[in-house]
Amino acid sequence: MFNKILVANRGEIACRVIRTAKKMGIATVAVYSDADRDAVHVEMADEAVHIGPPPAAQSYLVAERIVEACKATGAEAVHPGYGFLSERASFCAALEAEGIVFIGPKPKAIEAMGDKIESKRFANAAKVSTVPGFLGVIESTKHAEKIAAEVGYPVMIKASAGGGGKGMRIAWDAAELGEGLERARSEALSSFGDDRVFIEKFIIDPRHIEIQVLADAHGTAIHLGERECSIQRRNQKVVEEAPSSFLDEKTRKAMGEQAVALAKAVDYQSAGTVEFIVDKDRNFYFLEMNTRLQVEHPVTELVTGIDLVEQMIRIAAGEKLGIRQKEVKLEGWAVESRIYAEDPYRNFLPSIGRLTRYRPPAEGRFDSVVVRNDTGVTEGSEISMFYDPLIAKLCTWAPTRPAAIEAMADALDEFVIDGIAHNIPFLSALMQHPRWRDGRLSTAFIAEEFPEGFKPVRPDDGQKAVLAAVATAIELVRRDRLDRLAGRLAPHSGLPKRDWVVKLEGDYLPVSIVEGDASIPMRIGFSVNGGAALELSSDWQQGDPVWRGTIGGQKISAQIRPVLNGIRIDWRGIAITALPMLPNTAELDRRMPLKQPPDTSKLLLCPMPGLVISVMVAVGQEVKAGETLAIVEAMKMENVLRAERDLIVAKINAKPGDSLAVDAVIMEFA
Ligand code: ADP
Ligand code: ADP
Ligand code: MG
Repeated sequence: MFNKILVANRGEIACRVIRTAKKMGIATVAVYSDADRDAVHVEMADEAVHIGPPPAAQSYLVAERIVEACKATGAEAVHPGYGFLSERASFCAALEAEGIVFIGPKPKAIEAMGDKIESKRFANAAKVSTVPGFLGVIESTKHAEKIAAEVGYPVMIKASAGGGGKGMRIAWDAAELGEGLERARSEALSSFGDDRVFIEKFIIDPRHIEIQVLADAHGTAIHLGERECSIQRRNQKVVEEAPSSFLDEKTRKAMGEQAVALAKAVDYQSAGTVEFIVDKDRNFYFLEMNTRLQVEHPVTELVTGIDLVEQMIRIAAGEKLGIRQKEVKLEGWAVESRIYAEDPYRNFLPSIGRLTRYRPPAEGRFDSVVVRNDTGVTEGSEISMFYDPLIAKLCTWAPTRPAAIEAMADALDEFVIDGIAHNIPFLSALMQHPRWRDGRLSTAFIAEEFPEGFKPVRPDDGQKAVLAAVATAIELVRRDRLDRLAGRLAPHSGLPKRDWVVKLEGDYLPVSIVEGDASIPMRIGFSVNGGAALELSSDWQQGDPVWRGTIGGQKISAQIRPVLNGIRIDWRGIAITALPMLPNTAELDRRMPLKQPPDTSKLLLCPMPGLVISVMVAVGQEVKAGETLAIVEAMKMENVLRAERDLIVAKINAKPGDSLAVDAVIMEFA
């Protein structure tokens, strides 16, 4: 076994690898760029080596720097994590040349599987079923038209070097092929430095189901069952689970066998993932093989009890695989939510800044539920523009799928993040979604269920009663504390006021306290809007960002933030301001005039901080709904801004090359 390994990555995955190395008694070396001097992974490792300035191309992606860091510290092996150098055959070769072990497959397997065109050819040869399409490079629009007509629309144009959902476009007909080809190529070139694209059949509404494989250097290969990753936004995974609610034993076995056959065909050695899409009739088609540890590997670990990083390290050290296929048992259900620094209310645009507050839910086993949070940040950390905006991967495990989902909903309710925008409200709303709960999934789920993007969740009447009760309980604690302040004249009689009105945005909800008082722990009976009396109990104290308690027997964790004119409450994807008042104050409040929000319907606002790539219209031009107005690049993604309705361009304020702030006015309409 190795004495010391270097982790050539950052963020949550570097921390994840270090954790297992520590467990195995292996010393660890971290590497870091200028932006990561104070990062958690640097803190966790036994040693750390500085490798350059913040841009990855000058630090985490420079193979020579990593090799030098190994030599300087005497690290015998390198774990690459995912992304960065994890799938670069030349990097493995460079390490091998220095006698350093790459904790991953051999360069030949990476090469064979790294390129989508090559890997499909390989899969075909290994009798793995692949998506119908053309196994070659598309040379021109003419060529694309010919191929697409042969394959049959709709088709998908994909970058051969692609990854992370980039460089991929759908064309439903010949008219869409030209722009799709251009966009896919240009995105591929800027993301991967390689503009080769190919065309395959676009499978409508498939599910994404992938098989985890493990193979050693002695010819043994097994699979650890599947993960379903159908909840995707723009072809990027958002929520994953293991097992899949869609697979029967027969399909699971067939997919597992093909995945193992492919691993054997490329002489695979390490952990790897064979991705498939599965249609309604459970026909499955190979997409690609990821020759690395996958982002969503924790769900497999939770249902199999196998530590994949440990297995990778043991295999790299030449050990024989200690697990036989028939020993692999999938137990219970695991769900993972990717918590990203992105604003769900602004089309999920990246959000950067400092985590002024970061309080994840407690990890561990609680009764029959397990909570695990893989993260690389801590309170005060900065989410920078240089790297992936992943803040954490929150996982829950329970004996059944509904229980795992319920545990996830609770854990998300408890997860407090301030300082940047994040997608927890969206994930919370998703956990309540009936179609997700039923497991009726496809990769089009988010596009179909949230066609207008994500809007704040509106509480139903039952939820309003919960919110009103929480707000009142908080107000009771606050007033009680004020009353007890030393030196205050005329302390109250000890009993709280009985009648309250809680303003919930436009609604005024009468809340009556029918029994109990404000002492902590609190136990009161209350009724909202004259409804049935419910019991509320809580030991919440002022200053605690999460209000925990039970209301009418239901466990509630709601996040509390004092704001101007009230309390902001975040719960189950609902974000609402509540203002508890005495009835006479509420009467006056009703008479206050409402402020009207500004009208932005005649403006095209820049939805994110980004670079203008092109402006496609001119002043005076009449534009039809759906036509492209401008293209803005952010985080290497080209975002096409389209007209939401028919309109006439009145003024243009931006030109290609301009770097714009969020909400900058790009153009004005008549
Ligand atoms: P997974 O299938 O594990 O979810 P993704 O395809 O989402 O993996 O990619 C995981 C990470 O690796 C992301 O941070 C992504 O940006 C990065 N990544 C994937 N493929 C490449 C590639 N070819 N080049 C650079 N980064 C990549
Ligand atoms: P990446 O390397 O970016 O992960 P993949 O080939 O794995 O690229 O595809 C990512 C996602 O794009 C898939 O999970 C699926 O949702 C969608 N996708 C890819 N190819 C097809 C296809 N032929 N038909 C339908 N959806 C597809
Ligand atoms: Mg993929």
